[in-house]
Amino acid sequence: MNANRKILFIVALMLIGLAVATITNVALNFRDYGYNNAIEKSKMTAEIVRDGLTAHMVNGIMDKREFFLGNIANIKDVQALWIVRADNVIKQYGEGMQNEKPRDAIDRKVLKDGITVREVREDASNAVLRVTIPYTATAYGNPNCLTCHNVQEGDVLGAISMEFNINEIRQTGAMTIAKIFAINVIFIIIALWVTHHYFKPYMKLFENLQNGIKRARTGDFSFRFTTSLKDAGSEVAEQMNTLFQKMEDTFGGIKHNLNTFASRSNISCSDPLSTAGIIIQELSDVYKFKKTIELDSTKDAIYERFVYVLKEKFNFVHFALYEVDKNTKERKLIHITDHKSFCLPIADQNALECRAYRTASDVYSTDFPNLCSNCADDKAYSCIPFNINDDLALILSYSAKSTQEIENMNLSLPSIKNYFEAAKAVIESRTLMDKLRDSSLRDGATRLYNRRFLEEFIDKSSEQALRSHITYAILMIDIDYFKMVNDTYGHDSGDIVIKTLAELLQDSIRKADLAIRYGGEEFLILLYNTTPEGAVQVAEKIRTRFSEKKYQFGTDTVEKTLSIGIAHFPTQADSIWKVIKYADLALYEGKHTGRNRVIEFEASMHSGDQF
Ligand code: GH3
Ligand code: MG
Ligand code: MG
Repeated sequence: MNANRKILFIVALMLIGLAVATITNVALNFRDYGYNNAIEKSKMTAEIVRDGLTAHMVNGIMDKREFFLGNIANIKDVQALWIVRADNVIKQYGEGMQNEKPRDAIDRKVLKDGITVREVREDASNAVLRVTIPYTATAYGNPNCLTCHNVQEGDVLGAISMEFNINEIRQTGAMTIAKIFAINVIFIIIALWVTHHYFKPYMKLFENLQNGIKRARTGDFSFRFTTSLKDAGSEVAEQMNTLFQKMEDTFGGIKHNLNTFASRSNISCSDPLSTAGIIIQELSDVYKFKKTIELDSTKDAIYERFVYVLKEKFNFVHFALYEVDKNTKERKLIHITDHKSFCLPIADQNALECRAYRTASDVYSTDFPNLCSNCADDKAYSCIPFNINDDLALILSYSAKSTQEIENMNLSLPSIKNYFEAAKAVIESRTLMDKLRDSSLRDGATRLYNRRFLEEFIDKSSEQALRSHITYAILMIDIDYFKMVNDTYGHDSGDIVIKTLAELLQDSIRKADLAIRYGGEEFLILLYNTTPEGAVQVAEKIRTRFSEKKYQFGTDTVEKTLSIGIAHFPTQADSIWKVIKYADLALYEGKHTGRNRVIEFEASMHSGDQF
């Protein structure tokens, strides 16, 4: 049922209710009126009859009463009238006339009880009111009943019964009701027509508003409408049209851009305004993310934020983020949420073993069974490559217990890619900065770390090494009689010897160890978690291999040796600087005891008050 019909229905219902209430009220009133009127008439008639009979009695003309009663019975609406004698009157004065005997049960009841009885008898064609009123003896009236009657005060002497025809009043009532009904019907019709006529434009306006809003929800703001209303209705129509026009102009403009973005996001909302809201929210989140990482000083800080976004915004639980050096094809783990990656370590050494990196396309385990040969698990997983620039790529791999779960995670991918896209330029610039920083921490000639790096490293790492029970064997290395090379063959020849040693050092240590150019031709090696025996072995290897090197300077073939001092952190001192000093003392010992030697630090080598 539309709104217009609903209003008409309600109005009609109200008017019909009102009409029914009025008609019922009138009908009841008419009935009461007729009834009460007849009752009053009966009372009056009873009194006239009583007074008339008393007068007949007093005047001794009681035998003429029939004429009097006959006349009374001719009163309008009196259908029948008779009087009855009580037993005490019969006893004293005889039975009276034939028609003065009780005619029915009502007469007998009234004579017995002395209480008036009223009764309405009605059917479809006729309505009669029967009233029987008792006459009771009293000594207080005029005349005193007890002077003539041998009765007690309050005894019933007789009764008068009357039947009134109340048909006429009933018919008048029915006619009145019929008129009221007709008036009501006419009034209802007029009221409905006026209502319909008055509300129709409002209903039309309402319908138009509904249509316009319905279409606007689907992104179509082209709906316009007019109204015949002159008041607030026309204002509403005008304002809505202006609003739709504005929406069409502005929203139309940004719709295209939003669609471009929406295609890269997982937004499955049929309502374009809500879609716009979601997209703008996401754009704002990505923008905030970008603004934040722009202020982060290192690439690692940016990666940390990625991890945060994946955990907090996308609710990822099991995932790993890798960085691939495109030049060396090395893949480095940046973050992992679990103890172990489901991806085999072979892909760390050679990134081409990583299917996502090699194919530069998303790898979904849901696409094909055993899709990636280097996946060590039967979990559901996805591996997504993100290209940063010619040198760098990132791989995000995530897993879940069920296919359903991973498919839900995959739905977030377009949004995640927006974040990576926003971070691309920032990561690139931080990579460059990291490179610059790295070069400031490396020695230009040998590419080994320099003394500045050592200072930073010690600041950052010594406390943590102590806490984590990490040990370092420190090797202080110095070339024997190096000055002589410079003096005899020139500075450039000296440089060649230094570079040769630097390469040899880098070659002789593991990844976790550090080689530092400590001074001119002095080098420092930090061997990670190495036993004293292991440290001596490495030192001896360096010493031997260096002494076997031959340099061709002009016509001369030159061989050089070096000396190494070894000390241990934290077993010999809980400060790395102190241990470096001890290694230096051991080196000094080596120089003084013939050079080309590896010497381990002993407590006797220092006087004890130097530190
Ligand atoms: P010792 O056996 O006692 O170590 O004798 P040494 O001649 O090697 O003496 P020392 O270690 O003091 O020699 C350091 C020399 O190394 C002094 C400096 O001229 C030279 N030197 C320092 N840095 C460089 C460099 O970068 N290139 C060259 N060619 N020489 C350097
Ligand atoms: Mg030297
Ligand atoms: Mg030296």
